[in-house]
Amino acid sequence: MRLRDLPSVDELARRSDDPLAVEAARKVVARARGQIRQGDDPGDLAALLQNELDAARTPHLRRIINATGVIVHTNLGRAPLAEAALDRVREIARGYSNLEYDLAAGGRGSRQGHVADSLRRLTGAEAALVVNNNAAAVMLALAALAEGCEVLVSRGELIEIGDGFRIPDVLERSGARLREVGTTNRTRAADYEAAIDPETAVLLRVHQSNFRVVGFTEQPSLRELADVARRHNLRLVDDLGSGALVDIGDEPTARASLAAGADIVCFSGDKLLGGPQAGIVVGRAELVEKLRCHPLQRALRADKLTLAALEGTLALAVDAPDEIPVLRMLREPVEAVSARAARLAELVHGEVEETVARAGGGSLPLTELPSFACAVEEELAVKLRAGDPPVIAVVRDGRTLLDCRTLTDAEADEVAVAVEAARA
Ligand SMILES: *Cc1c(COP(=O)(O)O)cnc(C)c1O
Repeated sequence: MRLRDLPSVDELARRSDDPLAVEAARKVVARARGQIRQGDDPGDLAALLQNELDAARTPHLRRIINATGVIVHTNLGRAPLAEAALDRVREIARGYSNLEYDLAAGGRGSRQGHVADSLRRLTGAEAALVVNNNAAAVMLALAALAEGCEVLVSRGELIEIGDGFRIPDVLERSGARLREVGTTNRTRAADYEAAIDPETAVLLRVHQSNFRVVGFTEQPSLRELADVARRHNLRLVDDLGSGALVDIGDEPTARASLAAGADIVCFSGDKLLGGPQAGIVVGRAELVEKLRCHPLQRALRADKLTLAALEGTLALAVDAPDEIPVLRMLREPVEAVSARAARLAELVHGEVEETVARAGGGSLPLTELPSFACAVEEELAVKLRAGDPPVIAVVRDGRTLLDCRTLTDAEADEVAVAVEAARA
């Protein structure tokens, strides 16, 4: 085909009565022009137009299968929701709800009331508040408790979580002023004490989520920091990051943090809690109330889908934690993972390989979870990613590893079908 044989965008678009045809035809003609210039044949333009129209109607945000062995995978949507949590979302989203309606009083109610009781029960806190994510929770806490004042943070905790969430920047945006204390590897309670002046309002402790400092290190315990805060009538805010509700490895729980004397504790809903994206604030009632009344709260609050999914997840945290996918994957005995890998290997004629899975999401950075993968040909990784549903695996030492700790049994069956399709 020569350039002058190419139909115009309008001519090509007229071959379809699809309302998206002009936009699709523009892409097809532009691509064909480039191919002709390079001496290539663009192929059947009508068929290409139809492909383009099909692609435009395929959802862009898609379900994928996570065979990476990273449980809370930030790029892959973090925590998969439990069935019971999804049921709550469907129930609440498909019709009207009492989101901000008090059924007993017959008038306006608070959206924050729906999960407050469960969060109080699970953490021992006096009060709780839910916002859009944990970054928002930390921002709101600092804005409400330290605007125009100083916040003391250890130099060892001025961290970046990922995607540009840097504690010093968040602090500045909240309207508070950062005052660094101690050193990168060693900070003592006395360093905080020495830095306190009339401008100081808050001591902020940030959990070292995604890294560890090892060797010659020292950090005050939360209890020591709480003592300093009490003596000087300051607030102690603890950003836990993951914020496990049940005991998982050495990840601090919100309950332990409050018991040690933190006034406000912030953590994520979609890390080790295994629920929807959310920022959860628990702590002393009069301080949580200050956060609730702050104008930023209105901008950062969680929506009804989040609250429904969170209520569903919190109910399971008490009664059936293993129905929360994140907790189930973290705690599944390695024998069960190994059996899944063996079954998958048999289905696809792969090899079982011992691997190490990770909690991910900046949680338990040093914890290696024993796991098993099914190893197949290296070149399948790209094809699996292009499949439907896409399967995301890890390429190592010339092979594609399908880690079975992050697969359900049903997903392992889907992966087997995907491997066959990728080989065909
Ligand atoms: C993950 C994390 C955050 C951010 O939480 P999001 O829910 O992703 O907004 C903040 N602080 C710490 C310590 C974290 O680990």
